[in-house]
Amino acid sequence: MRTVRTEDIVKNIKEMCIEANHFLSEDMRQVFEQSVEAEKSPLGSLVLNQLKENLEIAGKDMIPICQDTGMAVVFMKVGQDVHIEGGSLTEAVNEGVRQGYTEGFLRKSVVGDPIERVNTKDNTPAVIHYEIVDGDQIDITVAPKGFGSENMSRVFMLKPADGIEGVKEAILTAVRDAGPNACPPMVIGVGIGGTFEKCALMAKHALTRELKERPSVPWVRELEDEMLCRINQLGIGPGGLGGGTTAFAVNVETYPTHIAGLPMAVNICCHVNRHAHRVL
Ligand code: SF4
Repeated sequence: MRTVRTEDIVKNIKEMCIEANHFLSEDMRQVFEQSVEAEKSPLGSLVLNQLKENLEIAGKDMIPICQDTGMAVVFMKVGQDVHIEGGSLTEAVNEGVRQGYTEGFLRKSVVGDPIERVNTKDNTPAVIHYEIVDGDQIDITVAPKGFGSENMSRVFMLKPADGIEGVKEAILTAVRDAGPNACPPMVIGVGIGGTFEKCALMAKHALTRELKERPSVPWVRELEDEMLCRINQLGIGPGGLGGGTTAFAVNVETYPTHIAGLPMAVNICCHVNRHAHRVL
């Protein structure tokens, strides 16, 4: 049994909120570079260069990459041999978000009640997804999610007979409908299988995957490659102004499902695909 103190969790979540809002992960930076070189449309290339410059300024001058600093989505993989000391784990995560968004001067975008819509003024509560795993560590991913792209995300309750072609059509439909509203180039998270809520959670989690990592299942790899290629032929382009870079990546997660269904979800992220990762 290993002890982790809540004050360490608060400190790390605070730092991760600030980090994620100012620096993209190395794989995202690389895909930006590659896209600038590959984009053939002059307007698309201009937009990509502006986005790249914005990214550099954000890190250098500590100005958030985007004014929408997102709702904090936190994935917590808690080892079953960890003992949390110092109070409530959930309160520690929210305190980290509170301190990160306040001390980091990040925009507070959360309303406490979805209908009454009064701003909580500290960006809490976070959306926290807990998973109990083997081991004695806590694996934390903080992924602030902007709602320009979140609003364009979809769940599709397909029929088993729709099969892989139905899945492809649903992905293309979601991306086509999103168009410029999702601030392209996008990263497309896809969850296939499970239940209504499981596929949505997989689609969200897929956005945090290292872009160079490839799925081990051949049909999933092929689906990712084909979808990226077809999405980039839609012509939406950087900023929605046309071009060949509509998406940087398509990341797919799968899970067993019921004989009577084929649930799937498409969680769209903009070019500011933020996620910070640490292991305590
Ligand atoms: S969708 Fe992304 S780029 Fe667009 S406003 Fe929101 S966070 Fe910013």
